[in-house]
Amino acid sequence: MAYITLDKNHFFHNLDIITKLTKTKDKTALVLKDNAYGHGLLQIAGMAKEYGLTKAVVRTDEEAKQIEDFFEYILVLADFAQESNEKIRYTINDLQAINKFAKNTKVELKVDTGMCRNGIVMSELEEAFVLCAKQGLKLEAVFTHHSSADEENEYFDLQNKNFQQVKKEARALAKKYAFDSLRFHSCNSAALFRTNGFDEDMARVGIAAYGCLELPNALHVKGLHVKGLHVNELVNELAPVLSVHAKKISSRKLQKGDCVGYGAAFETECTCDVSNYDFGYGDGFLRSCSHNYVTPEGIKIAGRISMDNASFLTCKEELLIFNDAREAARYAGTISYEMLTSLKAYLPRKVVS
Ligand SMILES: *Cc1c(COP(=O)(O)O)cnc(C)c1O
Repeated sequence: MAYITLDKNHFFHNLDIITKLTKTKDKTALVLKDNAYGHGLLQIAGMAKEYGLTKAVVRTDEEAKQIEDFFEYILVLADFAQESNEKIRYTINDLQAINKFAKNTKVELKVDTGMCRNGIVMSELEEAFVLCAKQGLKLEAVFTHHSSADEENEYFDLQNKNFQQVKKEARALAKKYAFDSLRFHSCNSAALFRTNGFDEDMARVGIAAYGCLELPNALHVKGLHVKGLHVNELVNELAPVLSVHAKKISSRKLQKGDCVGYGAAFETECTCDVSNYDFGYGDGFLRSCSHNYVTPEGIKIAGRISMDNASFLTCKEELLIFNDAREAARYAGTISYEMLTSLKAYLPRKVVS
């Protein structure tokens, strides 16, 4: 079967860069949603613990339960609690959610500072505090999420400005409604990398840890230097953790004019070798990579990607399909996040170092 390798050295190297920006391991919360961006939840959780991270972010309660033994703190982004749990915190995504949590549940309040997706709107802040107090919830943090940290438009600055305002109001409300030591966080990977002098209580880092962060070249990130490197150079230092390898099912020699695969979509121009490998769109190879895809070793795809396999112009026994999801994603006209999270959970994952 096709399989995935995870480069532990690259992962640790990325975490070194990230913890330089957050200043401590304790302020680095690793985002593990969607099977750790396709890398494998338990494999990444195990390595994160070994590295010394203590915080994680997931989507569901079930994911949180699976990694309970690896972390001290787990934030659930979009789910409700089955039972109260010391380690797990749940996100309040709107006012209606507040009475769905049992007394004493640890919660964090998400505030919409301009993304218009999840979170209470800024004018509901006091009402949210009142409802949390009434429900007897343990409100521990107030956070927001950026729509455009990895793009060049006005939203990043606007949301930062709005969140400053939220923090100011929330600190006053925390006193009024007796929520002690409220914490604040707003940065995803891109935001962390373009923030000069990070000073919040935590950053929620996903794609940078997996080595696939991209910032627009044109982005004017002023002044941030870590280890003497400008932030764009710093981003270039990140190394992709995940590689996909496929195994050969069969080979054949083609004559000029033979056509390969569904739709007879690839016609040979000369005599050549073609082999079929066990990685198809059913496994997570985006079908939009058909026709033009070239592997990191320069091997060309032949025609359409099938459900369980894809053909390439080579006879190699094993084929490296990709080792940088950013590059692979370009062939599909998508982003590394989709390339990675498309990888099925049943593919074997091996940690290599
Ligand atoms: C997915 C997610 C992140 C991580 O984003 P990256 O760009 O992968 O760093 C952070 N915060 C929230 C709320 C998210 O949903």
